[in-house]
Amino acid sequence: METSRRSFIKAGGAATVATGAACPAMVADDVESVIAATRFIDIHAHCTEFPMPPVYIKTARPLCIAEDLVAHYDRIGVEKGVILSLCNPENFIGGMTTEQILRTCAQAPDRFIPSVGIDPRALGNNAFGDFERVFKYYRDKGCRVCGEVCANLHFLDPIMQNYFKGCEAAGLPLTFHLAADEDWLYGLVDEKGLPELEICLQRFPRLRFFGHSQSFWCEIGRYRTWDERAGYPTGPVEEGRLAQLMRKYPNLYGDLSAGSGNNSLARDLDYAGRFLTEFQDRIMFGLDICAPDRYVSPLADTLKTLLRTGRITASVYRKVARENQLRELALA
Ligand SMILES: [Zn+2]
Repeated sequence: METSRRSFIKAGGAATVATGAACPAMVADDVESVIAATRFIDIHAHCTEFPMPPVYIKTARPLCIAEDLVAHYDRIGVEKGVILSLCNPENFIGGMTTEQILRTCAQAPDRFIPSVGIDPRALGNNAFGDFERVFKYYRDKGCRVCGEVCANLHFLDPIMQNYFKGCEAAGLPLTFHLAADEDWLYGLVDEKGLPELEICLQRFPRLRFFGHSQSFWCEIGRYRTWDERAGYPTGPVEEGRLAQLMRKYPNLYGDLSAGSGNNSLARDLDYAGRFLTEFQDRIMFGLDICAPDRYVSPLADTLKTLLRTGRITASVYRKVARENQLRELALA
């Protein structure tokens, strides 16, 4: 299938490629020059200021330090990335506070973009903390995103409602990790089909929600089992909740980082092409490199394949690779 699409594109004689989305045919050389000229912006990065001890895997360091991350970026073709905090006790032992993120980013401002990370239970573990003031303070210091929120709380928990309100008032987008369940995982909690998230999308229309994780990307299609929700479902995609919610709510965005984001596209490249084309202004490239010795997402290659096979246009490729991130982070 790919080979025949590719030779069709190479021939360059027809006006459109049969992908469902009418995209002008590009000759292979043009496709390769788009790829060569487009450096990625990573919407979801982690690193630490100093090397951390192994935590999840006995023998492996959990995260890059800044210079290791830059080496990965140079290899993959990433211009710069958003350093997200790991400020929730559910999934890390500490090590990258907002102050450390600001310090790390200041040392390489052409490669790193700072975020603000505050645990939602800070400021008294109640629903009245003045997060607006804190978020505005860090926004004015240059932070462009709030996150990654990994607290294992329901979206409708009053603590989270207060947190969203403060983030919306500061005008920062919010990156969240969605958990498959509560009590023994990390990430915000919602039921299948994301009814709590939908209420938040209505209640905070100016808050841009950047969704990520297995349980978020699982909703790209229909599914039946808990294992699918907690893992990496395979096979063709029959439209799921994500497309429905994104059509209805312009403040929902997709962060393609980690194995889950890549898997949601790679499992069905034809659907991926249609999904990226429909939501081309709200889907963003990301890597989430957090076990570099073990796994680095092949998302860059998946997007290149989608472009080379005519499933997405050069314009969609550029938006997902970098332009959406630059616009949403107010960097362009
Ligand atoms: Zn995450």
